Amino acid sequence: AAKASGRGRRYLFDEALRQRLQRLRDAEHGLLRAMNEGPLQLWFQPQMDRGGRHLAGFEALIRWPHPQHGWISPPEIITAAATAGLSETLLRFVLREACDMAAVLRDMGLGHLCVAMNVSPHDVTQFPLDDLVARALRQRDLPPSMLELEITEEAVMDLKAVQEKLSRVAGSGVRLAIDDFGVGYSSLAALRQIRAHRLKVDRSFISGIGDSPDNQALLRTILSLGDSLGVQVVAEGVETEEDVQMLRELGCPAMQGYYLGCPMSRQEALNWLRHTEDVS
Ligand code: C2E
Ligand code: MG
Ligand code: MG
Ligand code: MG
Repeated sequence: AAKASGRGRRYLFDEALRQRLQRLRDAEHGLLRAMNEGPLQLWFQPQMDRGGRHLAGFEALIRWPHPQHGWISPPEIITAAATAGLSETLLRFVLREACDMAAVLRDMGLGHLCVAMNVSPHDVTQFPLDDLVARALRQRDLPPSMLELEITEEAVMDLKAVQEKLSRVAGSGVRLAIDDFGVGYSSLAALRQIRAHRLKVDRSFISGIGDSPDNQALLRTILSLGDSLGVQVVAEGVETEEDVQMLRELGCPAMQGYYLGCPMSRQEALNWLRHTEDVS
C-alpha cells in the first residue's frame, strides 16, 4: 500500500512518523524535569449534577505544554512515562496534585466536592495503589470521599486483578468511576462486584444526543441499569445547551463537558469556582 501511494506520500508518512517518534523520545527525556519543575500540570474540569446546575467536583487531567512540540497529549505522556520507567513517578505526581487540590477545596469549606483522577490498568496492577492512596489522604487529613479513581470500562472488565485491587481501594471509602462506559463490553456480574459509584457514559454517545434516537435509547438503558445497581450515571462530552436539555429530559442529572466547563489550570479552576453562583 505504501508503494502504491507513491514516493511523495511515503515520504510524508515517514516524516510524520519520524516527528511522532522524536516527540515521544523528547517527552521521555524531559518528563522527570517537567514533573519537578512545573510545566507538567494537572488541569481540572468541572463535574456537575442536578441537571448541570450544581458543582459536584472536578476531574483532574494531565497537561504538558512542551517548548518544542506544543501540547503533548495525555496518552502520549502516559506512553512516554512507561518507556522511561516513570509510570509510578507519574502516578504519584497525579495523586499528589489531585489530593492537594482536594485539600484546598476542603479548606475553602467545600469538603463535599470530589476530585477525580484517572488511573491506568498498569497503575492498578503494578503499584501499591491502595497504600499510595491511603498515605496521600492521611498526609492531608482528607476524607476518602473527596477522591475518586476513574478507570476505563475496557480495562476494568478485562482484568480480574484490576477488579480485586480496585474493590479493595473502594473499601476504604475512595470512590470509583468506570470511564468511557458504553465503548467496551461489560458483564453485569463484574459491574455489580466492582461497586463503582459512577458510570461515565462515553462522550461519543452524548455529544449531539438530541438528534440521535439511538443514543437516547442507549442512555435510557444505562440509566435504568445505574438505577438497579445503585450507581450514578454521568454523561461526558456535554457540548451544547441542547445536550443539556435532552439529558434533563432523559433524567440524567450528572454531566461534564465543554459546555459546562473546560479543563482549567488549578488557579483558573479556583477563580471559576469563586464566580460560579451555586457552589453550596
Ligand atoms: P477521559 O478520562 O475520558 O477524559 C475526558 C477527555 O475528554 C479529556 O481529554 C477532556 O479534555 C475531554 N473532554 C471533556 N469535555 C469534553 C467535551 O465536551 N467535548 C470533547 N470533545 N472532549 C471533552 P484529555 O484531557 O485529552 O484526556 C484524554 C484521556 O487521557 C482521558 O480520557 C484519560 O483516560 C487519559 N488521562 C488524562 N489524564 C490522565 C492521568 O493523569 N492519568 C492517566 N492514567 N490517564 C489520564
Ligand atoms: Mg476520565
Ligand atoms: Mg471519559
Ligand atoms: Mg476517554
